[in-house]
Formats: sequence, structure tokens, C-alpha cells
Amino acid sequence: LEIEPADLWRILKASGIKYVKFIIVDINGAPRSEIVPIDMAKDLFIDGMPFDASSIPSYSTVNKSDFVAYVDPRAVYVEYWQDGKVADVFTMVSDIADKPSPLDPRRVLNDALEQARSKGYEFLMGVEVEFFVIKEDGGKPVFADPGIYFDGWNVTVQSQFMKELITAIADAGINYTKTHHEVAPSQYEVNIGATDPLRLADQIVYFKIMAKDIARKYGLVATFMPKPFWGVNGSGAHTHISVWKDGKNLFQSSTGKITEECGYAISAILSNARALSSFVAPLVNSYKRLVPHYEAPTRIVWGYANRSAMIRIPQYKMRINRIEYRHPDPSMNPYLAFTAIIKTMIRGLEEKKEPPPPTEEVAYELANALETPATLEDTLKELSKSFLATELPSELVNAYIKIKQNEWEDYLTNVGPWEKTWNIITQ
Ligand code: GLN
Ligand code: MG
Ligand code: MG
Ligand code: MG
Repeated sequence: LEIEPADLWRILKASGIKYVKFIIVDINGAPRSEIVPIDMAKDLFIDGMPFDASSIPSYSTVNKSDFVAYVDPRAVYVEYWQDGKVADVFTMVSDIADKPSPLDPRRVLNDALEQARSKGYEFLMGVEVEFFVIKEDGGKPVFADPGIYFDGWNVTVQSQFMKELITAIADAGINYTKTHHEVAPSQYEVNIGATDPLRLADQIVYFKIMAKDIARKYGLVATFMPKPFWGVNGSGAHTHISVWKDGKNLFQSSTGKITEECGYAISAILSNARALSSFVAPLVNSYKRLVPHYEAPTRIVWGYANRSAMIRIPQYKMRINRIEYRHPDPSMNPYLAFTAIIKTMIRGLEEKKEPPPPTEEVAYELANALETPATLEDTLKELSKSFLATELPSELVNAYIKIKQNEWEDYLTNVGPWEKTWNIITQ
């Protein structure tokens, strides 16, 4: 049941909300926002909120900059971890003539889900968000705790922080299921349970806002950078996915083996993984995570219980109900990443290609297995050749490739600390 924006405004006002934060998502998945007193916000709920679309990449140019953001009544979160007086509302973007923007990541995912529904498919997704909670020491990032996997001893300050964080996300209505200290020092994981993919993407964005904000209160920095420290695990955002048709989970099995449909979906993800990478691992730094021996995938293979494979099939007493795609990291724009994953899986269900056999060995050194792209530039080349380049709105693909290619070229020409350490004295 969908609530009208005007009714939503009345409910917020009646429940003591004093400010509304209108959130627009940019092409990188970052939230942008305008804060408006509740009484001034009433008309904006009804007519949309105007903004300068030339100042948020990549909506528009300076000569066509008046756009409108419409409240999405399904996506309201209250800042209970603050004073509880601010409501954050996600929006969908249209141009001045009310044409929906093909560059709005929320709209793109919303459209992909509607298209899936028209074919009879419903997707459920959950995510394991990994991140570091670090300190700054003389402007340098350093570990804030020496903790280890499932640590119960070395994390006192962080226990306080995590307790506040998980209480806050539960209060915000995020489907939080569990949390633990991860393998690297100062690294944590929070799991968000299976839900509608658009809702999950909103919740990932919102979770990152909360984690950063609450960490600051403890003098800590929460970072979702995929590989902040060389020599230890990076942070992934393993994405769990099931596809449903006529109320039935197509991936459900109690035989210990995947279903036929699950195989088709796996096959499509693996054969498009080198292009998907540009959305699920979107930073220059993402490719420093995708290296051997840190539980992140480097070979494009799948397996049961295999944490070195790109797709793992989680098994619990022979029961299977989903796939775990281990390639994504938490810097992804979750809207675009999920859109690309959903379109790829639907393609697989339609193409009906059998997957290769599961990999049982440790995958890092496998000969003859296709590798994840080595760099951001490699995956961008794959994206422009991929079916995704025609399946997604062309304005979006062009803008995305341009922004990411610029990032890559910036990195290539920058003189970084590694070169300075090794070459200034020796050469
Ligand atoms: N941190 C690993 C990654 O980069 C995953 C580790 C784990 O969850 N077992 O994906
Ligand atoms: Mg986990
Ligand atoms: Mg983990
Ligand atoms: Mg996992």
C-alpha cells in the first residue's frame, strides 16, 4: 500500500518532525541533501523540490540546471540517533518538463525492478557490509584496535560504538541481523537481511551515513574504502540474492545442489563479471582488494562453501536458498550495482546456459580460470563492450564511463607516496 506524499508530510508533522532532509543520490551513490523546516516543506512534498542539477554529477549542464526531486514515500528514515527531529526522505529526479531522469540511480533501479516484475520476477537481496573503524594520528589513518575475527577481548571502545550503531540502525527500521569484528585489525561487518533491492540500496546509503556520524562522536573514522591498508583484508559488500516467481523461490533446494534456474543465473553473472566489476567494484582502490589470499575473489568461478570463489553458495544443513556474490565492495553505488546484477541474472534466466562445474580448490592460483579485471580501466573497457552498455540508459552509461575514466587518468598521472618512497632517494 503506497502512501501519498501529502499524507506523509502530515504524519511527519504530527509526529513532531521539525526538519525534512531531501536526499538526492548522485552517480557515485553518494547522498546529497537540502534541509527544509517542516512547514516550508509541505509544498515541496506535493510539487517536488527544485535543485541545481548542474552541481550534482551527472544530472545536467549549467544551461539546463533546473530539475525537480520528488519525495519517494517508501523511503523515509528518522534521525533517531540525533534528536529525532529530522526526517530524511529519498527522492526521485525529473527534469523541468517532468521527464524522469535516466541519470538518477534510484529511478534506474526502480525501473529495472518494474521490468523484472513485468516478467514475473521478484528479487530479494541482503548484504554484508564490511568497513574499518580507524583513528587519525597526525593526519595519518591508523588502526583503532588490534582485534581479530570474532574478537571478544580487544575492542572495548568499539563495542560501545557498535552497540550505539546497531541500536541506531534498528531504530531507523533497517533490517539489521548481526555484527562481528572482521579478520583485519579495526575491521567490522554489519549484515542487513534480505529485502526489496531498492530498499536495501537506500539502507546501505543510510547505514554509511549513520556509521560515519556515530564514529565521529567517539573520535573515530568509519571508512568504506575497499582496501585502506596494504597487507590485510580489504572490505567487501557480499551481496546475497534470490529470485522469486509466482511466490516461489527459484533458488530453494534441499538436496545440497543448486537448482537449474540458480545455475542459469550463476552462469550469466560469471560470464559478465568483468563488465559488472565497473559497478560492483567502482574505485581505483577496489582493484587492490581483488588480489589473492584475502578472501576476495580473483578468479571468476563459483563453488559451494568456497570463500575464494566469486560466487559462493551458502549451505546450511543441505538447504540452499540464495547465492552470495562476493565481488562487490562497499564503495559501490548500490543502485547501479543492483541494477546491473538484476539485469544480468534475468538475462541468464532467459538464456538458460548451464554454469561451469563448481570449483572445490582454493581459487586464487587456479590455472585456466578467467581473472577479475586488474584495474578500473580494464573493467570500463569491458563495460563498453558488454550487453549492459545497451541494456542500461545510454546517457547513464556514457556519463558513468566518463567519470570513472577521469578517475583512472587522474590516478595514473598522480605522483603518489609509493613512488616517492622508492625513487626519490634511489634515483
Ligand atoms: N574481507 C573479505 C572481502 O574482501 C571477506 C572476508 C569474509 O567475510 N570472510 O571480501
Ligand atoms: Mg559475513
Ligand atoms: Mg565478512
Ligand atoms: Mg560473506
